Amino acid sequence: MKLSSFVNGSWVEGTDAGEALVDPVTGEELARASTVGIDIGAAMDYGRRIGGPALREMTYGERAKLLGAIAEALTANREAYGEIALANSGNTKVDAAIDIDGGIGTLQFFARLGERLGDARALKDGRLDRLSREESFQALHLSVPLRGIAVHVNAFNFPSWGLWEKAAVALLAGVPVFAKPATATCLLSHRMVKDVIDAGLLPDGALSLVCGSAREISANVIGRDAIAFTGSADTATTLRTDPNVASTNVRLNVEADSLNTAILGPDAAPGGPEFDLYVREVVKEMTQKAGQKCTAIRRALVPAALIDAVAEALEARLAGTKTGNPRNEDVRMGPVVSKSQQAAVLAALGKLKSETQVVTGDGDFRPLDADPERACFVPATLLRCTDPKGAAAVHEIEAFGPVCTLMPYDGPEDAFALAARGGGSLAASVFTGDGEFAKHAVAGIGADHGRVLVVDSSVGRGQTGHGIVMPQCVHGGPGRAGGGEELGGLRALGFYHQRLAVQGRVDWLEEIAGGAAEWSG
Ligand code: NAP
Repeated sequence: MKLSSFVNGSWVEGTDAGEALVDPVTGEELARASTVGIDIGAAMDYGRRIGGPALREMTYGERAKLLGAIAEALTANREAYGEIALANSGNTKVDAAIDIDGGIGTLQFFARLGERLGDARALKDGRLDRLSREESFQALHLSVPLRGIAVHVNAFNFPSWGLWEKAAVALLAGVPVFAKPATATCLLSHRMVKDVIDAGLLPDGALSLVCGSAREISANVIGRDAIAFTGSADTATTLRTDPNVASTNVRLNVEADSLNTAILGPDAAPGGPEFDLYVREVVKEMTQKAGQKCTAIRRALVPAALIDAVAEALEARLAGTKTGNPRNEDVRMGPVVSKSQQAAVLAALGKLKSETQVVTGDGDFRPLDADPERACFVPATLLRCTDPKGAAAVHEIEAFGPVCTLMPYDGPEDAFALAARGGGSLAASVFTGDGEFAKHAVAGIGADHGRVLVVDSSVGRGQTGHGIVMPQCVHGGPGRAGGGEELGGLRALGFYHQRLAVQGRVDWLEEIAGGAAEWSG
């Protein structure tokens, strides 16, 4: 099967054989994808010319209804998506739910938020500002939807969530979407977009999808567009330094990789509630989606005196995690998505091992119900670094799989300094029953992170998880994490709006402001 792309209002196939999408358990080829022969520049322009005006004609409230309708259409086909996520990404049921229901839930969340913006067609910041002695002359800060296209380049690990968390915000803002999922796992994105297009919910040009490499995107952006990129730091650099991206100054938001930290507080004791919650969370982060989450815990920092106890508890819990073919109901961890990802994880592990000892993951490994030669498994591997201050690789190399390094710290300041060695991360978590330590930690690591999760026994059951991105909360991180920011409720709309100061007669400004909604919704 050749996957087509949805451009210029119709489905078109690439003209060459394309890249193969495979089942990472069986090695079977599932489909091929190519964008060769598709005029990417013309397709982007179609979105700008046809989709943009149609979306801007609508109010935020009307566009919010579109998001709700998309979520409904996807929910109706939910079962088929689980099968695709299993076949093309090797997802267990839980892994698939994070991706698929995460995408649908984010659409529903922005549908609800957007409804509150009602009939408005612009957003405003607070009250008018007086500029001079002349009281009748003032300024209004207004934000209006961009007139270009929202280019969404996504990573292979979330073919559903990555697509919809970005599309929900751009469509609500009134900006047409040009989606480019990662080729290796785009079967799910393709099917979901097809269902939405077939349901006839969106104006022509509002949503385009390219399945295949589409490397011409960066040469075809214009200053009115906005690129939201998720993927590796290397690709982010390629995009940032692209001459057209640089010369047009197009908006570029980068969500890249990071060496996320989980800190066990100095107050924890083996068998205590925070200790147990910590161990459960680290194992969940290592094994969920086979560790292929950008937010996954890569560095587990524990008080030096507790490192043996934590290592033992993690080893015991990991021993109970069955790894293999997710078609087997007992399996809790599946493969990574491809042979090339398997090779990349094993290569990164090789480098990490030069500074660490293997606690678990080095022994004989046989996946359940799968041929290890054809399949793309990496065993859950816990490493231990005894001298994290003197080490470098453990703070720099992201093994994008079920790999985590346990390291000791000597006192809070040491823990915060080690967390900062990641060079900027998406998420950190702190497991403590001590409110003073919690406050100290938030102040100590906040500037290096996009999100800090604080867990004590009282929120242990209801907390949403270290690695789960919630649409209410900002997602992104400084430095190595890309320096970007997505989601975070209505704040997210800012990326797809131009904020401008309008200066003039107060009564006219008040009329303009009357047609705009407050960001607070
Ligand atoms: P990748 O190799 O950088 O690819 C990401 C996307 O960029 C893919 O769609 C890829 O297309 C596309 N791409 C590559 N070169 C391009 C170019 N020159 N112009 C336009 N598009 C280009 O990353 P990946 O291997 O898919 O994803 C894994 C990485 O993503 C990990 O490092 C992970 O930490 C990070 N990640 C970050 C987040 C976050 O939210 N911060 C979320 C998920 C993953 P093709 O597939 O066609 O090559």
